[in-house]
Amino acid sequence: MKKTISEIDPSWLSGRTAVVRVDYNVPLGTQGVTDDRRIRETIPTLQLLTAAGARVALLSHLGRPDGEAKLEYSLAPVAERLSRLLARAVAFAASPKGPAASETVAALADGEVALLENTRFLPGEERNDPELAAFWAGLGDLFVNDAFGVAHRAHASTSGLADAMKGRGGEAVAGLLMARELRYLKDALRDPARPFTGILGGAKISGKIGVISALLGRVDRLLIGGAMANTFFRAQGHDTGASLVEEDAIELATQLLEEGGERLMLPTDCIVADEVAEGAATRAVSTSAVSTGDKIVDIGPETRKRFADEIARSRSILWNGPMGVFEIDAFADGTISIAHAVADACDAGAMGVIGGGDSGAAVERAGVADRVSHVSTGGGASIKLLAGAPLPGVDSLTDAG
Ligand code: ADP
Ligand code: MG
Repeated sequence: MKKTISEIDPSWLSGRTAVVRVDYNVPLGTQGVTDDRRIRETIPTLQLLTAAGARVALLSHLGRPDGEAKLEYSLAPVAERLSRLLARAVAFAASPKGPAASETVAALADGEVALLENTRFLPGEERNDPELAAFWAGLGDLFVNDAFGVAHRAHASTSGLADAMKGRGGEAVAGLLMARELRYLKDALRDPARPFTGILGGAKISGKIGVISALLGRVDRLLIGGAMANTFFRAQGHDTGASLVEEDAIELATQLLEEGGERLMLPTDCIVADEVAEGAATRAVSTSAVSTGDKIVDIGPETRKRFADEIARSRSILWNGPMGVFEIDAFADGTISIAHAVADACDAGAMGVIGGGDSGAAVERAGVADRVSHVSTGGGASIKLLAGAPLPGVDSLTDAG
């Protein structure tokens, strides 16, 4: 367990400077931020700090500027949106380092907030340069990491900064969002109420081998959909036509089928299209009746019903990866129906956790995001965590207790 910001005495925070790493890697359009969910999710941590009278210096990356100051990746529009969401001024430092950064932070009064420019404008960020980490640690008295989305990266503004802050006698704690992510993805799933059902989908088995194996050992049922299922169909000896299949993962799928036995549940029917495009002709067919030229794009109606029945019986549910090419409306029904099934189970008292960027988007699109227990803000990080891989951004924090 890691120490969290709520365990720090508010009276100690007053007048002190907290360096806070957030994940404001948000989509930008010509009019600024197009989806501010990641900004909104950090508001509770920022409010806790400012209400206690702390001065807040925010660090974030945006996109992949690869160590150069590229203006299209500037955080300036994010500072504007944050200011509106917080209903208070947010100072903006035009550089993440040097006098621009240190003077902006030094000018803060108690309860004020500053955002520094994109950390990835500096080559030292992704290289985890200790000198850069020490500079950021030197800006404050406490480090708060609320950036779950980059918890799987060992960068200067994440684990480097935590180590530097601890090195100078300060503490490095989890923000409220980070703590919430860990509570749901780690603690709750360590000892889940049963039956515990895992649902996996998405494009590839290869990126999620760790998650499949880790879940197989813990769940009562593992439902598989998405293109990931296609590789299992091949392992079962079915023809998959022109569908997306990972040829070099068929052997792995065979092993997983054996290992999973009854616990592993695959689709029995699917939606096939002649093209992965809006307006393509579609048919629902048995998974044993896919023909040459068919592309599997979604789970079929019988599978939706079987999966929904399993979900309804569950008391804990973990879902990662869409059931089909849900970006195209005509192929989104399977994914949307699973989103509703998970939300219904949560309404009836189950714990439902959604991990993964596209799965989170699917749940938002289905309009059920506020009915499930938790939608993770970290795609890659949630997959790493579920697979039991180390998370440097978390491991580097001060231990609780
Ligand atoms: P997440 O971000 O939730 O972890 P992934 O990134 O693994 O999910 O997978 C999402 C992608 O998988 C989507 O872009 C979706 O179109 C694709 N996908 C799902 N099912 C299929 C399929 N049957 N054929 C091709 N692509 C698929
Ligand atoms: Mg994805």
